[in-house]
Amino acid sequence: MNTQTDPFIGGRAQDSAIFDLIKQETLRQELVLRLIPSENYASKPVREATGSILTNKYSEGLPGRRYYQGQKYIDKLENLCIERAKAVFNGEHANVQPYSGSVAVLACYFAVCQAGDTVMGPRLDHGGHLSHGHKVNLTGKLFNMVQYGVNQQTEVVDMDEVRELARQARPKMIIAGGTAFPRNVDFEAFAAIAKEVGAVLVADMSHTAGLIAGKAYPQPFPHVDIMVTTSHKTLRGPRGALIVCKHEWAQKIDTAVFPLLQGGPHQHTQAGIGVALFEAQQPAFREYAANIVRNSKALAQTLMEGGLRLISNGTDNHLILADVTSMGWEGGKPAAVAMEKAGIELNANMIPFDKGSAFKPSGIRLGTPSLTTRGMGTEEMKKVGELMLRVLKDPSANEDNLRRIRAEVQELCLAFPVPDYFV
Ligand SMILES: *Cc1c(COP(=O)(O)O)cnc(C)c1O
Repeated sequence: MNTQTDPFIGGRAQDSAIFDLIKQETLRQELVLRLIPSENYASKPVREATGSILTNKYSEGLPGRRYYQGQKYIDKLENLCIERAKAVFNGEHANVQPYSGSVAVLACYFAVCQAGDTVMGPRLDHGGHLSHGHKVNLTGKLFNMVQYGVNQQTEVVDMDEVRELARQARPKMIIAGGTAFPRNVDFEAFAAIAKEVGAVLVADMSHTAGLIAGKAYPQPFPHVDIMVTTSHKTLRGPRGALIVCKHEWAQKIDTAVFPLLQGGPHQHTQAGIGVALFEAQQPAFREYAANIVRNSKALAQTLMEGGLRLISNGTDNHLILADVTSMGWEGGKPAAVAMEKAGIELNANMIPFDKGSAFKPSGIRLGTPSLTTRGMGTEEMKKVGELMLRVLKDPSANEDNLRRIRAEVQELCLAFPVPDYFV
């Protein structure tokens, strides 16, 4: 007689170490004001699809062209996700297999360029992402990167400067978009420059895909050739990424993702992305996207009125970049640590023309996607802004002050519970 209880050993109770940590993290996410602009709360259906039995399946290749058997439902699933991605972003072709934003961005380089080719992307310290050619990233090592920044006076990307740089460098590919731009991308202007110099235009919309889907941000298509995005930021899906492009780039994008960079796609993640794309097609998602921007502007207004200097004097989207040295702080890191003690989560970040360094940046970066998902509105943003200002007005980071703020933060969090969150 087989007395073994395997498979599934002792169930979830056996591994209380992991499940207790998940429970504690769930509670933590409930009781803090999460303002990190790349983070969000994924819905229960998204999390259910992502945690499903689809994790069991191998499916290298594309629908109808797989290397393993048993793809009857997997092919339907991937095709459905592809169709939704095309519909949401108004693209001609989609690949929903990239494991993460970084891999998806890299796939764009390999679809368009050869190693050594010239590529133009935004500087990291002016709002770009590591994968936009920073020297510590593979992209910075493999490609001849020419980097553009923002104008020192306006703190916005100056399209005349981009044009001048592109004319000199003649890049094969230009990347628009980034990870710390409080202002929106002018796709038409980028497209005109790309056309003039014969470059392929790639929009990295990792941060703003949810706003694009909800029509609260300019539409990349038909202006760009390729759009790449993570699935887990404003789009509110599981961790992952997708690429949408024009027909012309379809095959090159697909083969760059597999077999060049990846192996078997994560079909459970793909299903979660599919659910997120379904949510993004609902009328309520437009409200969510509009509310993110409305909340962000309201929060920016309160912070500026309280004396905090915002990069570019405000925001067009979900994101705010602020210079905390304007309120007597040495840098963004001690400010972010004090905020965390008060139950407010954001991250230290470099600001354009930072007088500090990557290790000692002068700024903080924050945004409204998570709070908007919790149902907070402009009234609450005023309150959140005031709580933040109480932290910022005390660069000595008095512990009693932070504790008092923390209590008020918790009260606000309890009034806006995360929907469907308790496990
Ligand atoms: C977040 C982000 C990425 C990378 O995404 P990961 O999933 O963390 O690899 C790439 N580009 C931009 C602009 C991003 O904001």
